[in-house]
Amino acid sequence: MEQQGVAKKIFNSASARPEDCVFCKIIERRLPSAIVYEDSDYIAFLDKAPFSEGHTLVCPKKHGETVWDMSENEIGGLFKLAARLSKAIVSAVNADGFRFVQNNGEAANQVVAHVHVHTIPVKLSDKGKWMDRKTISSQEMETLAQRIRSEFKSML
Ligand SMILES: [Zn+2]
Repeated sequence: MEQQGVAKKIFNSASARPEDCVFCKIIERRLPSAIVYEDSDYIAFLDKAPFSEGHTLVCPKKHGETVWDMSENEIGGLFKLAARLSKAIVSAVNADGFRFVQNNGEAANQVVAHVHVHTIPVKLSDKGKWMDRKTISSQEMETLAQRIRSEFKSML
């Protein structure tokens, strides 16, 4: 069922046309990224400023700002993929659990106005601790993405 007739528009100061959208640029290879998974409808790549090692963003390829811009089938597909990938991500970094975070709008701290699901692996030793964004080199990112990709392949 399509989600039509939504009255309220969710505000986001980062709103961009698809041609200027950072994630659309990643999808079109106009910006580099460490891609973990890709099919005709979805893509997953590592966050450039991760909260933890393995922090991955899972996105629909079709530009939309919030889940209100997606059909229920598309939303289902997005979370199904995120759930499948979470196993490979947790395994690749030897984590003990993970978080899904999905922000919609400025008020929710959505930084890039293209729908994405944060999949953030967490370790027991981090329980209850505040997580800060970290910096990671593109070399480290590529090595990590490769590890996640091979974990995912071994699970198929
Ligand atoms: Zn986009």
